[in-house]
Amino acid sequence: MKELTKIILKSTKEKSLLRFHPWIFSGAIKSIAGNVSEGDLVELTDNNGKFLALGHYQIGSIAVRVLSFEKMIPGYDFWRSKIEAAFNLRKALGLIDNAETDIFRLVNAEGDFMPGLIVDIYGGTAVVQMHSIGMYLIKDQILKALLDVLGNRITAVYDKSAETLPFKAAIKGENGYLFGNHSDLEAREHGNRYAIDWEEGQKTGFFIDQRENRILLQQYACSRSVLNMFCYSGGFSIAALRGNARLVHSVDSSKKAIELTEKNVSINFSGTNSHQAFAMDAFEYLADIKDSYDLIILDPPAFAKHNSALNNALQGYKKLNQKAFEQIQTGGILFTFSCSQVVTKENFRKSVFAAAANAKRKVSILHQLSQPADHPVSIYHPEGEYLKGLVLYVT
Ligand code: SAH
Repeated sequence: MKELTKIILKSTKEKSLLRFHPWIFSGAIKSIAGNVSEGDLVELTDNNGKFLALGHYQIGSIAVRVLSFEKMIPGYDFWRSKIEAAFNLRKALGLIDNAETDIFRLVNAEGDFMPGLIVDIYGGTAVVQMHSIGMYLIKDQILKALLDVLGNRITAVYDKSAETLPFKAAIKGENGYLFGNHSDLEAREHGNRYAIDWEEGQKTGFFIDQRENRILLQQYACSRSVLNMFCYSGGFSIAALRGNARLVHSVDSSKKAIELTEKNVSINFSGTNSHQAFAMDAFEYLADIKDSYDLIILDPPAFAKHNSALNNALQGYKKLNQKAFEQIQTGGILFTFSCSQVVTKENFRKSVFAAAANAKRKVSILHQLSQPADHPVSIYHPEGEYLKGLVLYVT
């Protein structure tokens, strides 16, 4: 077997690996025996040289992302069987060959034991995003495995790693088709149709992680006046209209997002006069809406990407939610979310609690929401749980 560069950990730093956590931070490294380049496959050993795991090396705070706790060289068969396992899980979830929903996440990085790799499916197109150089360097193997496992279900694979590869890395990603080519695509979620723009849109093109929460919203929407704040491409707006809301207002600071929302509303509810969309800053809009709405959705972008920004993020959630509590009608329902990975469920709840107290409203928790099952969380990697939501009744 090919000799891999060995990375020796400081004593006691092997503990997380013995509990199958897939990351090694740079501070845990005692020494590196030999030369190592970004993206290399490396072997991790304890302080005494005993094999622990192997993974992809990267310069940065997370130095190694573990691929296997067994001594082996991961080749094509390894990747194919991992992607097949991810596919089989989606099959068990009813997401494969589903006539109502053909938008789903096929590979959720650590949650599918493939750190550094995201694959989202939009009808016949797979959009891949590599978050590590190690994954980027083996993208041919990943592509082949995807084509083998998905067969004729897909006609195009688009690589959108330019924004997700570490920006300091020597290797720069370029977005483009690895297979097939562009098609103007409409895909479906619970029978609703969406025009998806993975080339120019945010993330891989759509916020797939809110699929189940949109269904819940639909159940609350009947006859309500709904504000969908941070609407992006209008997923919650479509769900509210489907649930017979009296009116739906969609707000996002991005003009592009507002255009996408308007397009999606017209695909599904051509000629409706129950919907309006506004390109505007959230705080500006919320300042002036006293008692206009009895259902408000707040789904802001991640306020904190790193731990260093945590306190500011918690203040941000408090300020935003306080505004909504102040403005919502009596008997109103608030769907409020945080997608910041570093903000725990408890911290988010505390921020919302402080916001409710400041606004002096009576608030009960109706539902505690999370991410759907096609965004699984490895039990060994609790950091994978990032989406948190509360549904609140406000009097
Ligand atoms: N709820 C959406 C996803 C929201 S993503 C869905 O289900 O698809 C967050 C959105 O917030 C982005 O579209 C971004 O453009 C928007 N945004 C960021 N800052 C904002 C601000 N200050 N005011 C209003 N919208 C903002």
